[in-house]
Amino acid sequence: MFLCECGGVLLVKNIYAYPSGLTALEKLNYQRNCTVECVQCGKKKENQSFDSEE
Ligand SMILES: [Zn+2]
Repeated sequence: MFLCECGGVLLVKNIYAYPSGLTALEKLNYQRNCTVECVQCGKKKENQSFDSEE
C-alpha cells in the first residue's frame, strides 16, 4: 500500500502497460510503474513502482 506524505492512502489510478514485445518471463521481471492519487489531498504521483514489495 502507498501512503502520501499527508498520511492519506494513495490509490493506484493507472498502471503503465508493458512495453510491446516482452516475453512472459521478461514481464515477470519487469518493474511496472503506476500513477497513484491520494484520497485525502488529491495529490498525484507519477512513476511509482507497482511491482516492488516495499
Ligand atoms: Zn495526501
